[in-house]
Amino acid sequence: MPVYKAPVEDTLFVLNDVLGLEKYNNLPGFADATPDMIEAITGEAARLSEEVLFPLNLSGDQEGCTRHDDGSVTPPKGFKQAYDQYCEGGWSGLSVPEEFGGQGLPYTLHSAVGEYMSSANMALIMYPGLTNGAVAAILVHGSDAQKTTYVPNMVSGKWSGTMNLTEPHCGTDLGMLRTRAVPQPDGSYRITGQKIFISAGEHDMTENIIHLVLARIEGAPEGTKGISLFIVPKFLVGADGSVGARNGVTCGAIEHKMGIHGNATCVLNHDDAVGYLIGAENRGLAAMFVMMNEARLGVGLQGLAISEAAYQSAASYARDRVQGRSLTGPKAPDKKADPIIVHADVRRTLMQIRSVNEAGRAFMLYTALQSDIAHRSPDEAERQKADDILSIMTPILKGVMTDRGFENAVQAQQMFGGHGYIEEHGMSQYVRDARIAMLYEGANGVQAMDLVGRKLAANGGRAVMAVFKEIGDFCEDNRGDERLAPYTKAIKKGLNDLQASTMWFMSNAMAKPDNAGAGATDYMHLFGVVILGFMWGKSAKAALERIEAGDSRTDFLNNKLVTAMFFMERLMPETALRKARIEAGADSVMALDAAAF
Ligand SMILES: Cc1cc2nc3c(=O)[nH]c(=O)nc-3n(C[C@H](O)[C@H](O)[C@H](O)COP(=O)(O)OP(=O)(O)OC[C@H]3O[C@@H](n4cnc5c(N)ncnc54)[C@H](O)[C@@H]3O)c2cc1C
Repeated sequence: MPVYKAPVEDTLFVLNDVLGLEKYNNLPGFADATPDMIEAITGEAARLSEEVLFPLNLSGDQEGCTRHDDGSVTPPKGFKQAYDQYCEGGWSGLSVPEEFGGQGLPYTLHSAVGEYMSSANMALIMYPGLTNGAVAAILVHGSDAQKTTYVPNMVSGKWSGTMNLTEPHCGTDLGMLRTRAVPQPDGSYRITGQKIFISAGEHDMTENIIHLVLARIEGAPEGTKGISLFIVPKFLVGADGSVGARNGVTCGAIEHKMGIHGNATCVLNHDDAVGYLIGAENRGLAAMFVMMNEARLGVGLQGLAISEAAYQSAASYARDRVQGRSLTGPKAPDKKADPIIVHADVRRTLMQIRSVNEAGRAFMLYTALQSDIAHRSPDEAERQKADDILSIMTPILKGVMTDRGFENAVQAQQMFGGHGYIEEHGMSQYVRDARIAMLYEGANGVQAMDLVGRKLAANGGRAVMAVFKEIGDFCEDNRGDERLAPYTKAIKKGLNDLQASTMWFMSNAMAKPDNAGAGATDYMHLFGVVILGFMWGKSAKAALERIEAGDSRTDFLNNKLVTAMFFMERLMPETALRKARIEAGADSVMALDAAAF
């Protein structure tokens, strides 16, 4: 059976020692997030994750969701009760402003606890996860009336939210979407069209579901310039906030899919459904991007979460399973064989996963902190810098952490040998669940193109320069510290490869755009390794400082230094390989006729 324990000690190390959250006390909500408060909140989230969500993970996978003849959908047994406990704990409103019923705490803290919940039960936590994104979009682009009508009930968890973009013929290329919106004399619209693959699209866990739907108003321009965003409630909401008649949106089917069986992935048919415009006409994609950007961070977090959960089960199995003897003589002479954790190849695998998880956690929380600064800082220059860094980190976090999350889930499964392939151990579920994160919220190839095609050149490269400076300054500032030299030298070398590859795109992709496309995924991963290395540099520095200060977490801090060194030796060298692939250009990639494939 799989095991899971929330990595609270590591989260606290990242928040307090690596990021120094206390430095940000001037931001709204941060003064309340004292170290004691953070410890209490992460501890409580760990309890909910380990005791309530995790026990439903395997059973939810095996049972899946049920669609009834009347179109209603029931999630697996126990999901509603667990969701109710989640809502009672106030988790859905942790970082939402207090005026809308939330607690106004940092989004960084919301992300920290989100990791535990996704590790424990990704399919279940996706129900409120999408609601968070919908709330963010309404808060940024909705009218005051929309905010007061919908947001408080969504924050309390009484109502949930969804994101309706995808149609059968259009996923990545939303410019082709066909769902129509017809204006009505009362200012509302009538929405007609089919949306597919809608996560948490129909279920009976909440009183109402607030769908955020992209549609084209009659007569609007073709392409992405003619798309608007609408609120389409499952049940219409009266002026007094009461839930009224059923709206014209129904679940036509639920998908039978590879993983996240406990989450209802729905075909939603909008048939003359009443919808309310959010923001300006034809500006829907910009409004939906608020939701998509938040969701992309959440999906990157899912990659980390599954990787962590899979790692823990693999490490536990490797300590128990006995096969063969250590190359250096028996380590468990009283047994017929040694536990497989004595074998260097098993260790290598576990270290690889662990080194990505711990740096990935720091990367995820660092990125969430940029989001907090970008939205809450009183200083405009600070807001802009954080927003720039966030814009670069978002596709990298999503693409890299979900690619690595899947790869790590497979590697963790490998530790079980053939037993990993058998469902009852839970490793197959991790592999299947991790796979979707590489696909939705923009497939990872599209994240790579977003990074290379849009983010690098934006504002004359201002954002990417800010990131390079941040990493370069860290290496420079610590150049004189002998103890940090093995880390800073490796990071600097990686940064050089990254900067050289960036320059290569500048010189070779304008005239020949396929050079950008052919190198984009390698570039995203090259960037990812450098950021993870940078996170290890910051973590090693924090660990050394704490050791020097006589901190009692001696084993934990020493393990940090060893794992950081493993990353420098074993993962940082990837940057040279990625650079070589990028510089090979697009010729052999594009040479064959389409018919030859
Ligand atoms: C379980 C599940 C849950 C989902 N939940 C939701 C949801 O809640 N709401 C919602 O709206 N959608 C949802 N989706 C849809 C998901 O976001 C899309 O499947 C995804 O965006 C990709 O679209 P597509 O499947 O049409 O693939 P396509 O767009 O057809 O892409 C196919 C392949 O081509 C590549 N590609 C496409 N265009 C380009 C390009 N310009 N450059 C380079 N490569 C390109 C892609 O990377 C991909 O590998 C969900 C999907 C699944 C399976």
